[in-house]
Amino acid sequence: MKEKPVRHYEYRLQQLRDEAETRLALSTVKPITLKIPATQIPHATATLLHELQVHQVELEMQADELQRANWNAQDSRDRYVDLYEFAPIGYFTIDADGITTDVNLKAATMLGIERKNIKQHRFAEFVADKDKDYWNRTFVHLKKEAAGTELAVNLQLARKDGLIFHGQLDCLKTVDINQHPVLRITITDISKLKQAEAELRIAAIAFDSQEGIFVTDANSVILKTNQAFTRITGYAEEEVIGKTPHLFSSGHHDDAFYQAMWNSINSTGLWNGEVWNKRKSGDLYAQLLFITAIYDDNNAVLNYVGSLIDITHEKAAVAQIEKLAFYDSLTNMPNRRLLLERVKHALAATQRSGQNGALLFIDVDNFKTLNDTLGHDIGDVLLQQIALRLVSCVREGDTVSRIGGDEFVVMLENLSENAETAAQQTKIAAEKMLVALNQNYVLGTHDYHCTSSIGIILFNGHHASIDDLLKQVDIAMYQAKRNGRNTLCFFDAKMQSILEARVKLERDLQLAIDHNQFQIYYLNQVSQDGETIGAEALIRWPHPERGLVSPLEFIPVAEENGMILDIGLWMLETVCQQLKLWEGNARNKQLHLAVNVSSRQFYQPDFVAQVMAIIEKTAIDPSKLELELTETLVLDNIDDAIQKMSALNKFGITFSIDDFGTGYSSLAYLTQLPLTFLKIDQSFVRNIGVKPSDAIIVQTIIGMAKSLGMRVIAEGVETKEQHLFLQHNGCSLYQGFLFSKPLPLFEFERLLTLN
Ligand code: C2E
Ligand code: MG
Ligand code: MG
Repeated sequence: MKEKPVRHYEYRLQQLRDEAETRLALSTVKPITLKIPATQIPHATATLLHELQVHQVELEMQADELQRANWNAQDSRDRYVDLYEFAPIGYFTIDADGITTDVNLKAATMLGIERKNIKQHRFAEFVADKDKDYWNRTFVHLKKEAAGTELAVNLQLARKDGLIFHGQLDCLKTVDINQHPVLRITITDISKLKQAEAELRIAAIAFDSQEGIFVTDANSVILKTNQAFTRITGYAEEEVIGKTPHLFSSGHHDDAFYQAMWNSINSTGLWNGEVWNKRKSGDLYAQLLFITAIYDDNNAVLNYVGSLIDITHEKAAVAQIEKLAFYDSLTNMPNRRLLLERVKHALAATQRSGQNGALLFIDVDNFKTLNDTLGHDIGDVLLQQIALRLVSCVREGDTVSRIGGDEFVVMLENLSENAETAAQQTKIAAEKMLVALNQNYVLGTHDYHCTSSIGIILFNGHHASIDDLLKQVDIAMYQAKRNGRNTLCFFDAKMQSILEARVKLERDLQLAIDHNQFQIYYLNQVSQDGETIGAEALIRWPHPERGLVSPLEFIPVAEENGMILDIGLWMLETVCQQLKLWEGNARNKQLHLAVNVSSRQFYQPDFVAQVMAIIEKTAIDPSKLELELTETLVLDNIDDAIQKMSALNKFGITFSIDDFGTGYSSLAYLTQLPLTFLKIDQSFVRNIGVKPSDAIIVQTIIGMAKSLGMRVIAEGVETKEQHLFLQHNGCSLYQGFLFSKPLPLFEFERLLTLN
């Protein structure tokens, strides 16, 4: 049979009895004293007495124990209350209606609401608006669940002051002492946890940013990298963990560079700068690197974080921008800006060394004509070839720059200290350039030949300004052009005043255009029987200060700076208006007028259209208009000349070759042109009776012109002798002071009445 287990309480009673017996036996308890001697007490009574005594001891012990148990209970209740009230978590008890029946102090503190204002309030009141729905659903769900059900939810709770905090709620469905269902909820404030989570998420996103990141320990051993790091460096994380960033070093930076980097990190905890490193592929690349040291509480370095951005493209772009800023894109030569920089340095260098330097200003002769006739692409090819030829003429270290259009400036350095020797050295170099530039060019399908003019100036440290230097070398070049092109010319002080005069002339010319200062003088043209058949219209400029300025002075300037386009147009228009006026007059309506046309004007792409437009506007008879072209003009681009002349000639306009005999004087080309007149240059006419060979030339020209069906006009006939000789040789028309000087309109018209 199985032994019945001794119940705890019975066992405890037995223990008490044993203890009481032991105490009595050890006489720690005073025995009961009786008036009767012990020997006279019957055995049964004695036993009873002993029992009583044991029982008394037992009772006393029980009373002590009860007292102690009471104290213990009191103590543990206090401990429970403390635990309950001051626990780090909030406790709520909620009844079946969702009303809070009990709440601990911590929960009240969490909510910032007094306990009395929580009790008997719905728990839902303390849930943040955002989560109220969620809570209600949870509560309804728990209501249906059996006692013992546990559920954990995260909710946002609202403090009285409006602050929201994240709580983790552990709910236990149970019953209270009256067997009514209740919900016991513990609430832990997990706001900090949530915040830490968010920060971690941010850190994770930040870590996987576009920037490459690597984290090392205090010894620079790599612990972690991100994806961008792999993308930039080419190294996977596992390939670099355990290594140091020395792995990436390109050898591009010296020890001092790294020394300075570490000095900064050690003293400030930071460094940033540009580093050239090597990718896994071995390619060099530029990165912007930020290094930050991370310290522990004792200020000892824990980690270094390096973040890097690949700036190779930016570097390349900067280099490209620099190239655009300092180099001419057509020839790849330094541009004006870089030239100025270099001149600045050279000036300083010559000041130190005492040596001389030289600037050579090279301008391609007649480049504009080439550009206008063969097109810009061909012009560009010429400029490229010129640049190469110039480079081949100078020493390394000298500068060949293109400063605009067809203008090149070469700077020679380290010339002799002696100015004369330096000038000689420069002259040799310049002559070499002239020869090189004179060689034939192959431009696409065209063979081309051109010359250049070179202005030269020597310089040393005494030259104050770069501007002056460039201005003066420009003057020298301009002088070289005036000296007949294909030459070189050193700057001297006289040139300065020439230039200044020219600058003033150009300014005044513009004013003349703007204020309509020009006039036309008419030089009559006379037939064999002395009749005026027309006139050459010659421009006159009555300058407000200088009086009449010769066209020989201002026309070439206007040609160069382009003002001739405005001037030429004005001439054409005025001449046509005059022809129109004469149309209504019986005597004058037969007159024709000749107008000089300059090369620049003629080779404008729309020249034909311009002339047509004026003729249409003024509605004149086109056959009364004659255009004078020179041989040089026509030969500059014979194909274009033929085409334009033919177009206008078809319309009725006539052409003459001016100053014939002074140019190439090749009659061969004349046959291709729709020419009506040939004007023998006055230099030949002047020599009739003086220089027999010129007289022969005159005879020949007249003879050939006739056989080609052209009429000959003799220019500058001043004497009867010249007139007779010309008449005798069959010249058809004459102009010159023998008949009249060029006259203003009203005087010319009066002359006509005398005829
Ligand atoms: P050109 O076309 O050969 O004009 C003839 C020049 O010789 C005129 O000089 C005229 O005054 C001058 N002349 C005429 N007969 C005699 C004479 O018997 N003896 C002397 N010594 N000279 C005489 P001007 O008017 O000074 O013109 C000079 C040049 O200027 C012209 O030479 C022409 O090339 C140019 N020019 C004049 N007007 C214009 C114009 O409207 N447009 C353009 N593009 N050029 C013009
Ligand atoms: Mg003329
Ligand atoms: Mg002439």
